Amino acid sequence: MIQRIFLVLLGLLVLASTSAATVEVVAVSPSMGALVREVAGARADLTVLAGPNRNLHTLQVRPTMMRVLRGADLVVAIGAELEVGWLPVAIRSAANPKILPGTNGYFEAAAQVRLLDVGGAANRAMGDVHPVGNPHVNMDPVRMAAVARALAGRLALIDPAGASRYRGGAEGFAAKVDRRVRSWRSKLSGVPGVVLYHRDAIYLLDRFGVPLLGTIEPIPGVPPTGRQISALTAKLKGGRGIVIYTPYQSPKAPKSLATNLGWRVVELPMEPPRGSDGDGYLGHIGRWVNTIASAK
Ligand SMILES: [Zn+2]
Repeated sequence: MIQRIFLVLLGLLVLASTSAATVEVVAVSPSMGALVREVAGARADLTVLAGPNRNLHTLQVRPTMMRVLRGADLVVAIGAELEVGWLPVAIRSAANPKILPGTNGYFEAAAQVRLLDVGGAANRAMGDVHPVGNPHVNMDPVRMAAVARALAGRLALIDPAGASRYRGGAEGFAAKVDRRVRSWRSKLSGVPGVVLYHRDAIYLLDRFGVPLLGTIEPIPGVPPTGRQISALTAKLKGGRGIVIYTPYQSPKAPKSLATNLGWRVVELPMEPPRGSDGDGYLGHIGRWVNTIASAK
């Protein structure tokens, strides 16, 4: 009898542990958070460190970050040195051995996919903030599907009981990406192209063969000069296109270039809203697609 009661209690415990969140995950940004939601669902207790309108190149470490990192089982970063100015410091200060780079508890999206802008002419000394390649892989939905699969594998190492949930979540997201990419491809065929402030949306442009007509910054991370804007005006005058910048970039130079050229200038975020899931992320990419297609 006592043995039977013990077994029932054990069964209840197992049930409780499979239904509640089992992994504490900290994602650097809403796009990484969206992947965690798709892949892990309720198995992850998720904290997103930065809102959608923050520049991840220049985020500041806050005490609240260290608090959540202290209790984390997994950190999901974008990587390729995007967060080099703050995340390593925050992780060291959190003194949580589970999330140190090189362990299963530290995951970088950029390390899972082929990077663009690798081995360019510019370098750190010239102020280039992309010295190891372009880190902004979250703007390519196809790379994000690959990242979701890799994330599922990593989560399964930390929480083997959830392996099939993670694999299913990643495959579900990849299928959604596939469907959207087909319609986006036809929408974007034949668009004249885009001027960006920073080389932050190049993965999206590259995926769909959209021409990058120029950047407001001469080198990633180096502010524009009047000379740069005059040179762009001379190069692009008489052509068609659209100028896009993000909320944390100064609108002054993008607006003056757009005025010179008679083009539309649009502010778009680099990240979906905080709290987004996979659909929220794809909605964010859809906004970019529609804006770029409007220049046709
Ligand atoms: Zn950048």
